[in-house]
Amino acid sequence: MNIEQTPSQRREFLKICALASLGFYIPSCINKGKEEKPEANTPSPEPEEPVKQLIDLFQSEHVVLLTRDDAKYDEKRGGFNLRVQKHPKLIAVCKNTAGVAEAVKYAQQENLAVSIRSGGHSFESFSSNNDGLVINLSMMNGIEWDGDAVNIEPGTTLSEVYDAILPKQRIIPMGSCGGVGVAGLALGGGYGLFSRAYGLTCDNLTELTMVDGEGNIHHAKGNDDLLWASRGGNNGNFGVVTKMKFKTHQAPSGFYSHRFKAYKMDIARAKSLLETWFEYAGKLPNSCFSAFVMNYKTLTLLITNFDDDQSGIQPMFDAFEPITDKFSRGTKKELATSLKKYYGIQTPIYFKNASAGLYKSFEDIRDSIDDVIRLVQENRGLIYQVNTLGGNIDNTDFEQVSAYPHRSYPFLAELQAYYDSPEKQEAKLLKGFQDIQTILGNNGVTAHYRNYPDINFEHWETAYYGVENYKRLQDIKQKYDPNNVIRHEQSVKA
Ligand SMILES: Cc1cc2nc3c(=O)[nH]c(=O)nc-3n(C[C@H](O)[C@H](O)[C@H](O)COP(=O)(O)OP(=O)(O)OC[C@H]3O[C@@H](n4cnc5c(N)ncnc54)[C@H](O)[C@@H]3O)c2cc1C
Repeated sequence: MNIEQTPSQRREFLKICALASLGFYIPSCINKGKEEKPEANTPSPEPEEPVKQLIDLFQSEHVVLLTRDDAKYDEKRGGFNLRVQKHPKLIAVCKNTAGVAEAVKYAQQENLAVSIRSGGHSFESFSSNNDGLVINLSMMNGIEWDGDAVNIEPGTTLSEVYDAILPKQRIIPMGSCGGVGVAGLALGGGYGLFSRAYGLTCDNLTELTMVDGEGNIHHAKGNDDLLWASRGGNNGNFGVVTKMKFKTHQAPSGFYSHRFKAYKMDIARAKSLLETWFEYAGKLPNSCFSAFVMNYKTLTLLITNFDDDQSGIQPMFDAFEPITDKFSRGTKKELATSLKKYYGIQTPIYFKNASAGLYKSFEDIRDSIDDVIRLVQENRGLIYQVNTLGGNIDNTDFEQVSAYPHRSYPFLAELQAYYDSPEKQEAKLLKGFQDIQTILGNNGVTAHYRNYPDINFEHWETAYYGVENYKRLQDIKQKYDPNNVIRHEQSVKA
């Protein structure tokens, strides 16, 4: 959840043309030859295996298939992170579940790895690959009401979901960046401004449809293992989720956003402010969210609340007013307008973001934080942020039915690095970034959020899923994708 301003956009967002015109339809050349008849008087051949129906994805009415020669290939290839560029052999822009099933079967037939792109906001571009097939779900962005629940297709972005549900005074606890895809968010967890009240996004997922690694279609609800896995452990691991059903909650009537600022902090002051933040943020009412954002020597401390009762925040106000430089106390604002302020930049940028650990308290970083702050201050462009989790995320009912393993950690830290010039800035920032990760790792920070992946995490399996849940996810992988067709650099291995 990035609440800092991102660098100015450098690329014009290409308008997506009518997808019907996207495809470069190449005539089929597969298996269309005449059958050879056996010659007379020759012994009849051994009975053959039934001929497997070969799929010609180029001819599919459910898929627009893009090759590297296609004019639209580059537009559909890129994700939100310009730092990690990949070049798949084919991009299958699917129109429906049948198209996804065909695309997966075709990939299996052609021995191509499959990556899945919904909103394209993976920090490490796990939604693309080199020389494989990318299933692009951007055409599948329908939303349909079912009573107070909503069926949402995976290519829907968070801003599209908010636009559909807020006018009906309903809310789903989701992230705040408007361009993030609801599928990638929910399948890896999903936290935001409403999570301490209503749980993670995945805790509100009640049913789904998934095409597995063999191209078979499954529907999951209730106690199905697949639903358990999809609540925090189904990001590109064993199938393509094509439909999700979420419960919704009554939306609040308004929203409050309060900010403290501190400037020119030295290490001792930054550390002391952070320790104080841990003390008070953990006790905030569940209607609140808070983030401690350290950018160079400046602190932005955000506290949001969707309840009119502000009394539960007063102790935090009293603690921070005397020790910070500026306090902007928010007034009640309309919810939809407030949320739009957090949508952030929508066009691709250069960045490296990752989890900097889940913490139980300040004690988890007491020994390492001096070095972390020093490195943030030495590497302008690095941001260290700690967010509140806890509240109703730490609910045993949710824990029993989800693969998300970190409920007892009430704080999530993230490191961020944004830059405009890869040639001039990237190497230094990435070095500082990695130094911080190494320091935290060496000081016992080992639990990380799956949706904030870092390609350099050594033990990502247990860091994201914990030991027991990873084993269970491996069994599910074996069941739904034994040939590892669906994969990326940190996908579950059977
Ligand atoms: C600017 C920004 C702000 C963010 N803010 C928040 C936040 O507030 N809260 C939060 O929790 N997270 C946040 N995130 C992290 C976000 O949750 C993850 O990056 C998420 O995985 C993105 O989903 P996507 O669909 O956009 O990405 P994609 O790149 O399309 O996919 C991400 C991952 O999900 C898998 N995947 C995508 N679609 C499917 C599918 N249909 N079936 C199976 N697997 C699929 C892909 O294989 C990939 O591994 C933010 C990220 C960014 C870049």
